[in-house]
Parts: sequence; structure tokens; C-alpha cells
Amino acid sequence: MIATPLRRALGNAWILALARGQRSIPFAPRHYIEKLRDDRVRRIVRYAALTVPFYRDAFRRLGLDPREIRTADDLARLPMIEKDDLRRDPEAFVSTSRAGRRSVPFESSGSTGSRVSIRHDARSLLANVAYGERERAVVTRILGRESGYREVLLGYVGGTRDKVYDFYRDWTWIPARPRRLELLVTAPFASNVEAINRFRPDVLFGYGSYLHATARAVAAGAISLERPKLLIYAAEPLSLATRHEIEAAMGAPLVARYTAVEAFKLAFLCEHRTGFHVHEDLAHIRILGADGRTARDGGSGCVVLSNLVNRGTVLLNYRMSDISRWSAASCACGRTLRMLDEIEGRAEDLLDLPNGEMMHPRAVWGVLKPHPEVLQYQLVQREPARFLLKLVTATRDDYARLAPRLARAMEALLGTGTSVETEACAELPREGGGKVRMVVALRSGSDPARSLRGV
Ligand SMILES: [Zn+2]
Repeated sequence: MIATPLRRALGNAWILALARGQRSIPFAPRHYIEKLRDDRVRRIVRYAALTVPFYRDAFRRLGLDPREIRTADDLARLPMIEKDDLRRDPEAFVSTSRAGRRSVPFESSGSTGSRVSIRHDARSLLANVAYGERERAVVTRILGRESGYREVLLGYVGGTRDKVYDFYRDWTWIPARPRRLELLVTAPFASNVEAINRFRPDVLFGYGSYLHATARAVAAGAISLERPKLLIYAAEPLSLATRHEIEAAMGAPLVARYTAVEAFKLAFLCEHRTGFHVHEDLAHIRILGADGRTARDGGSGCVVLSNLVNRGTVLLNYRMSDISRWSAASCACGRTLRMLDEIEGRAEDLLDLPNGEMMHPRAVWGVLKPHPEVLQYQLVQREPARFLLKLVTATRDDYARLAPRLARAMEALLGTGTSVETEACAELPREGGGKVRMVVALRSGSDPARSLRGV
């Protein structure tokens, strides 16, 4: 391995070189975007056929020549990958190449109640910073300035963003960012509000449900907030109505980044918020109708992803748990990237706790994430202070060993006076779209502002 200073210098140089021109790609002529996309399709398919065990076998089994996959449409000829396939044998999807062997493991946020491990190779992680220029251009347009703005990021310890930053610290020089403040969703809401008011950010970046609860608390007069000029959410879909409600309450535009651990750049809402522009050359999206065919012309269905840039875990034709449809509208922003209309997924339950706080499900996941033996989980609020933690573990011994510890850790998270029982489960009930709710709150869909009054 090369020495750290040289590695960092090379990392920065690589990002800088790649970042040039990124801002113009979303506006490029269609034929240019399609060429970029299909070139990447051919390269990743060839790579998969040569170095990824699952695809090596699949091409042989199907008697398919990888060179026959020439365009994004051809990807539908490959086998459909389900989350369970990946969960059962994650290594089968990891490239045996040098890039694959050295790739960095990430875990799904647990938003489906069960973990999936995805590896990203170093080059694609560095390139992701450069691709981010496309989304930073939206911020620039709204704020009317290129840099120097203040931003607050809401997250949790051990989240994907932390891990990505650990990687960047190792591979690049990250400039000091005095204008950036990171807050935790596990911190008391009142202290986060106070920190935001003190810091006065231009941009507030957080989870959809957290911003929604904040907006409701503002609308109800439960808190007063120094209003940011721009709100950004990621990781959880929000309905159009909810987005409008947040914008009205907060008096600022709300844009989105559609991202997943399976592909860091999927789509984004631009300054016009007409639809989600898809990073077509980085992640190919197919909408699969209920009849099992590719839906076109605005038909809604499952999002099926082919990540065209990751050379760690290679996923082509992989079914996500989100539902969407193509938009026929063209966006006044002038971007030529195709748009998804709305992205539907389950909004997550925020827990109202006896101490008057609310808790985001990512905080619950934060307790379970360090224990890979926990395959699936669900936290059910039975009474305001009584909880049941359902666990699917790899073995019975894992359950016996971990359950008491996890119950105590969960009680510590949920606050004084709460009690958490555990239950070993073989599997958990799934909802439409195959999702497992990771948190089932007592008052699901309640007015989050209620729990914030008195703050
Ligand atoms: Zn647009």
C-alpha cells in the first residue's frame, strides 16, 4: 500500500479530474447521456461476467454471451436479484478482482428491518464525490452562491455517512469545514433546535420524517426555528403532500437525494422539484409492473436497479423495495436526465417517548447495527413506556447471549422508566412491498408536534 500523503494527494487529484464537467452532464443532449450510460453498461457487464461469481455462473447457465448485453434495456435479460438472494450469499456478488477484494463494506440502514451488506470499491467511492457536483449545483442555484454557506447535517453515530467520511479521511485531504455542523437524531430534540438556532444554517439536511416532525412543531408553534434557506432530505421517501406541508411550515424549498446503500447516486429533486432526475449513466432504473413486465409510459411498479459504477458488490437488475413511475413531464430547469414522478416507500414511525422526546428509527438501528448476528428486528411500542424487541438471530445461542444486552441498551436509549422485553422470532411480518417496519409506534402517524409541545 502506498504512503498515506501520496494516497491522499492522488485521491484528491482523481476527484478533481473527474469533477470537471459533472455539472453539465445532467443538461447534456440525450444521445450523449445514453452513450455514457451504455458504455458503462457494457463495461460493468463484462467485468461482472469475468470477476463476479454469481454472474460468471449466470452467463454460463443461461448460455448468454456478455457481449450481447449492449444497452441498458438489455440488462432486463439478466436474472432478477432479490434482496434475499443478496442476504443469503453476499460474497457471490462481490468481484474477485483486486478492486473487489479491497472494497469497503457498508450495511443497509435497516429500513427494511433486515441487514444487507454491500461493498463499494475505492474508485467508485472517490468518484462519488465528483458525481456529487451534480447535486451541489442545485444547492448553488437555490442559494445563489457557490460556497461559504452554512449547513447542518442530521445523522446518527455509525451511519453510512460516518463510514464514507472515514474512508475519505484515509484517501483524501478533507478541507476543514467550519461552516458545517453535525447533529445526532439521538440527541434531545430541544437541544438540536437550540443548536440549529445558534448556528443559523443556510441548509438543513436530514431524514424526511425528522424534517416533517420539525415542520409540524414549527407550524404548531411548539418551537421557534431560525429558518434555513434550503432543506434537503434523503434516505426516506416523502409524499408530495408531506413535502408541500414541510415547505409551507418552514418557508423554504425542500429538495431530495434519492440514495441507497446499494447505489449512492440514484436520483435527485432539482430546484424546480418537478420530479426526481435519475443519474442515468451511474444507476440504471427499470420500473417493474405488477405483471412482471417492464412498465413504461407512467405505469407504476418496483424500482429495479443496476448500479453501473460500483466494482465491489456488483448488482445488476436488483429489486429495491421502493415503488415509482416515470414522469412524462419535462423540467423547466433544462436538465435532460429522465425523471421519476414520486418515489413511494413507507414513511418511518417516529416514537413518542414517555419523557416527551421523539426518537427516530435510525437511533434504534444504531443499537443493533454493531451485531451482525441480528438478521432482522422490529421494535414494537406496546404502551408508552413498554416495548417488545423482536429479534431474528443467526442461531439460538446468539439470541440467548445477545437478547438481555440489547434489551438493556435499548432501555438506555429510550430513557429512564422504559422497559424492553425481547422475543426470538423465526421471521417478521412483511408489509406491501416486502418491507418490515423496523419500529411500530403506539400512535402510528400521530401528530409529531404533540410530543414536542412543552419543549
Ligand atoms: Zn429539473
